[in-house]
Amino acid sequence: MEHFIFPAHTTSLPIVGMSERFPVRRVYCIGLNYVDHAKEMGIPADKIGTGEPLFFGKPADAVVVGPTIRFPPRTSNFHYEAELVVAIGKAGSNVSAAQAVSMIYGYAVGIDLTRRDMQKAAMDNGLPWDFAKGFDESAPCGPILPMTETLLRRGKIELTVNGCVRQSSNLSKLITPIDQMIAILSTAVALKPGDLIFTGTPEGVGKLEVGDVVVASVEGVGSLTVTVLPPAKL
Ligand code: MN
Repeated sequence: MEHFIFPAHTTSLPIVGMSERFPVRRVYCIGLNYVDHAKEMGIPADKIGTGEPLFFGKPADAVVVGPTIRFPPRTSNFHYEAELVVAIGKAGSNVSAAQAVSMIYGYAVGIDLTRRDMQKAAMDNGLPWDFAKGFDESAPCGPILPMTETLLRRGKIELTVNGCVRQSSNLSKLITPIDQMIAILSTAVALKPGDLIFTGTPEGVGKLEVGDVVVASVEGVGSLTVTVLPPAKL
């Protein structure tokens, strides 16, 4: 087998109305950020929304624009999660919620794809979620809509599978709102331009099968359509 040195790989997303693309640096996600989703995940009511938000990450190259993704290996419970995605355009550490708003470049619609069986096994055993969340093509994301220094507080978030509505909620129900999310995250890591934050999914998560057509949308931001293809030959 021959070996090669590869050029640096950069994932990027289209920006609505611009020829430039948004270079993706890191992908952060927040878990259990809607009360009714936390309930459906089996979190006791008195534990929901208490304490620090739960952050995790995905590799930058898990971000894909679609319109297709491959059914991933090692799962028989492959789930969709519609999410609003925040695109960071300015660096910041230990910022206040007000300063956090000035770091927002824009928004997109994303799907936090999840190997739920693998996640459940990890949760039950107190083990990391990495492979349940961070696999190939696990972060489909639509184009970035520039909305510089704009804090989204409300807007319908919806997901359909083959035309049937499976998730329908509103950004007003985020447990940790976007400005606070950025501020808290910035106490743990230095945020930089190119970072994406998946802001959590509402209730109604469920299984995807090969051939399904998934449409996620956020009012005022846009929509993202992804079709699930048969597994790739690894
Ligand atoms: Mn999620």
